[in-house]
Amino acid sequence: MSEHSHLSTHCRVCGARIGAFMSFGRMPIANGFLTAAEIADEYHFELAPAFCSACSMFQLVEQPQPDRMFHGNYAFYSSTSRYMQAHFERFAQAVWSKFLAERSDPFVVELGSNDGIMLRHFQARGMRHLGVEPSVNVAQVARERGIETVSAFFGRTLAEDVERKFGKADAILAANVMCHIPDLPGVAEGVRRLLKPDGVFIFEDPYLGDMVAKTSYDQIYDEHVFIFSAGSVMRAFARHGLDLVDVAPQKTHGGSMRYTLAPKGSRPVSAAVGECLARERNQGLEYPETYLHFKQNCERSRDRLMSLLSSLRRDGKRIVGYGATSKSTTVTNYCGITPDHVEFISDTTPIKRGKLSPGAHIPVRSHDEFARAYPDYALLFAWNHADEIREKETAFLAAGGRWIVYVPDVEVIS
Ligand SMILES: [Zn+2]
Repeated sequence: MSEHSHLSTHCRVCGARIGAFMSFGRMPIANGFLTAAEIADEYHFELAPAFCSACSMFQLVEQPQPDRMFHGNYAFYSSTSRYMQAHFERFAQAVWSKFLAERSDPFVVELGSNDGIMLRHFQARGMRHLGVEPSVNVAQVARERGIETVSAFFGRTLAEDVERKFGKADAILAANVMCHIPDLPGVAEGVRRLLKPDGVFIFEDPYLGDMVAKTSYDQIYDEHVFIFSAGSVMRAFARHGLDLVDVAPQKTHGGSMRYTLAPKGSRPVSAAVGECLARERNQGLEYPETYLHFKQNCERSRDRLMSLLSSLRRDGKRIVGYGATSKSTTVTNYCGITPDHVEFISDTTPIKRGKLSPGAHIPVRSHDEFARAYPDYALLFAWNHADEIREKETAFLAAGGRWIVYVPDVEVIS
């Protein structure tokens, strides 16, 4: 365990003792793309997940300090993906028509509002809105687009400030944010205080059921301190007077779940909640043994991927990575993928180009370099965008290129 990190031996939600059921080993910051000169100072922590058998929350045992992860140069802008733009437009539309259309002068708050990708749809309707975005430069982009945004971490204190200034919220939203926040009880308490008695809190995050079913262990990295299930969300928020009243599966991020919560007793609980809890029981998400089985599946996936990459390299094949994603950091470091296996990673994000991938130090190069001389194989790190990417890269296939995927199974596809 590294000296700068926070080591938790107690569940962040219920306080019961927890212990890691496996380790992915020494791990750098997933989004910590770096220059050669920075290698000597690269930060590491031990990536080890635990399952709380008391409240069933899946969580990291150790998490690096937040300032190691969410710094001023945080490079991820949601609006760069057209697919995500369409997703958030549908999300905003669903919230509007189901909960807000009938209300007079509603107020909507989004936690982790990024560059305003979702809030702009409320702004366009002239609605009162507020984004909470800790990343200063990302929040600035949102403000330049006319989206009211405060740069801060959400918790009890900020909830009180917002209430004093704007009043209580009709809806509080969050997408791919709640799983990042170690102090889940603090956020839940802030939400409860800020929400109107008939308000709703709606958030979505990568779903534990999908991760276990697909062995998509690359969901596990520093920023994802929790991987939620309906059962764990229900228990965690019940402690703060919020009922889980609806769930809806989403295709984003390789399988997510959207949770709707409301003040206790204020709304009927939809049938989808009971059905989802029953599916989770059948899948064994409530039992520690399931995670020992998950561990074995991770090991098997790693062994198969490495034997495939090694044998292709022995045959003199060129392999290039596709998509320098945060997820890929867990895969390259856990599996032991080096620049000897993967020549470079192709990525369209300008800020990552010319840098090295965290830990594995594989060069990140432009998509032009990928297209200039197609490799024999492309290792699809951005597997959750497989459909979009395979549609875009027909010339790669026409040139005889093949994709290597590892979720849900390690295989070569064309
Ligand atoms: Zn717990």
